[in-house]
Amino acid sequence: MPWDDKFECMPVDELQRFQLKKLQETVDWVYERVPFYRKKLDELGIRAKDITSVEDIRKLPFTVKTDLRDNYPFGLCAVPLRDLARVHASSGTTGKPITGPYTAEDVEQWTECVARVLWAAGIRSEDIVQNAYGHGLFTGGLGLHQGASRIGCAVVPTSSGMTERQIMLMKDFGTTALLCTPSYALTIAERAEDMGVSIRDLPLRVGVFGAEPWTDAMRNEIEEKMGIAARDIYGLTELGGPGMGYECDAREGLHINEDHFIVEIVDPETLEPLPAGERGEMVLTAIQRRAMPLLRYRTRDITKIIRGKCSCGCTFAKIDRIFGRSDDMLIINGANLFPSQVESLLMEMEEVEPQYLLMVRKKRHLDEVGVKVEGKKYVYEAGARKIAEVEKKIGAHLKGLLGISFGVELVAPKALTRSEGKAVRVIDQRPK
Ligand code: ADP
Ligand code: ZN
Repeated sequence: MPWDDKFECMPVDELQRFQLKKLQETVDWVYERVPFYRKKLDELGIRAKDITSVEDIRKLPFTVKTDLRDNYPFGLCAVPLRDLARVHASSGTTGKPITGPYTAEDVEQWTECVARVLWAAGIRSEDIVQNAYGHGLFTGGLGLHQGASRIGCAVVPTSSGMTERQIMLMKDFGTTALLCTPSYALTIAERAEDMGVSIRDLPLRVGVFGAEPWTDAMRNEIEEKMGIAARDIYGLTELGGPGMGYECDAREGLHINEDHFIVEIVDPETLEPLPAGERGEMVLTAIQRRAMPLLRYRTRDITKIIRGKCSCGCTFAKIDRIFGRSDDMLIINGANLFPSQVESLLMEMEEVEPQYLLMVRKKRHLDEVGVKVEGKKYVYEAGARKIAEVEKKIGAHLKGLLGISFGVELVAPKALTRSEGKAVRVIDQRPK
């Protein structure tokens, strides 16, 4: 049984009627309150009454990341600041961060969405939930805290970092559920090994991981190392943080909380909508948020929609696990490359640890891509000949399946920097 069967199991036609009503309300809401949207909608000559079906969402303008930057901090806010209950912000690796304002009602809805996500992962009130997502401006920490509290779990807000203490508490408190980024889960698993703690023998049984791309191969690695079931969750600051997409028992994609978000996939070049099953850029519209509901937000995340009945009983459409962010796509001498493709192939090699870093640079007019990957202890210690042999093998595997030549460098175990949040997978040194 899902957390909220009224919505999660709502017949599809009823759900669409609900979406339409909320979409119309949202178009009115932003038209009246956000000059940015009023201008865009006036230019297109569109008002809420022109939206007569969910498909009509295509008539609405897109919103992009730079619109948020240009209107920093509160230019896209639809309510006066006194009506805000919370403001989060994204990491914003360059320049100003992206602001995520919430009314009290937005926070309440967010809490319910996250409760659905954790419930679907099998988390119940008797669970001891260690929340190792960064707490603070990042939406992960507080968002998951609220959802787990709503279910009635004992929440341990460790935040990220201080890995040895995480492991000590996990052991002492008998933590049953771990929430963090997948790369941090690996860091924890590895440090536990070093400390002589077998996580497999602890009560930990489930992990809810998200906030960065991770492959099925990485999932297997984590599940194996920790002896747990690992679930994927999806969200982004611009639309309210975690609680937008979640895996159910079927683990065949992530359900989107469709009573809150309308999902589309578009061709990133033409911006034309793509049919279900085709991979492209995910576009999301928030239809119940009030502080900053975005219309057709281009997430830059690459995935596809999976329609059809899910064995879990939930009627919400699913998206495939995120293939990568278009921002992270590398163009190597004209060929497209996502870090996730390299990750999957590296994880197939038994000689390496699940730790890697892609390095790109320009040599004369050509792009050169190198990958540093940690060798397993026994490989590394076998000496230069073995190392060279494995490097060659990895290079051939990557070249064979991706058609790109990589300079492979097998580095010592633990040579690469460990992640405590979102892992850095690429260093691109090419001139911009
Ligand atoms: P930032 O853009 O600074 O990373 P956010 O914390 O809001 O800020 O991150 C949201 C982004 O994180 C998403 O747009 C997506 O690229 C990535 N992300 C979140 N969850 C997942 C997931 N489960 N799988 C892959 N990528 C994810
Ligand atoms: Zn399902």
